[in-house]
Amino acid sequence: MREEGWPGREGWYDIAQICLNGHIINAMTNTNPEHSMNFCDTCGASTITNCQHCKHDIRGKYHVRGVLNSRYMTPKFCLNCGTPYPWTDIKIKAAQELVLGLDNLTQVEKENLNKSLNDIIRDTPETTVAATKAKKLFAKAGRGVAESFKNILVDIISEAAKKLIWP
Ligand SMILES: [Zn+2]
Ligand SMILES: [Zn+2]
Repeated sequence: MREEGWPGREGWYDIAQICLNGHIINAMTNTNPEHSMNFCDTCGASTITNCQHCKHDIRGKYHVRGVLNSRYMTPKFCLNCGTPYPWTDIKIKAAQELVLGLDNLTQVEKENLNKSLNDIIRDTPETTVAATKAKKLFAKAGRGVAESFKNILVDIISEAAKKLIWP
């Protein structure tokens, strides 16, 4: 571990490299640059280390003195500008596509479901209401629909919404 990361601090964030589809390539590009790759070995997509909107670094693993293996979770939104990262965006768009194809829902219900999807990937005061609405619309849309949405959104959905919709 390089000492210059510790100028009298108890902990510091490394910079992460993640592929456009959200696979974590290297959660410690400063500490272990040898693990970085230009393309993802899982899906072949390009990799990034900063927000494509504001160029702020993607926060990587937190180094804490004495702790070797802290868990790293892919961030959903840029912590500097709040823009969804590409992998979050791809999943939102895929879910919205799926909404369009739901035959049992009216146009208004589809629009409501899309709005709810935007709220259930964030932890906001609206999350619970949105999750309850989404759950009803999934049920109305038909058998297996909730499951399909779960497959797409599982990594980006808020924990509170997850418990409500897929207990
Ligand atoms: Zn990938
Ligand atoms: Zn940003």
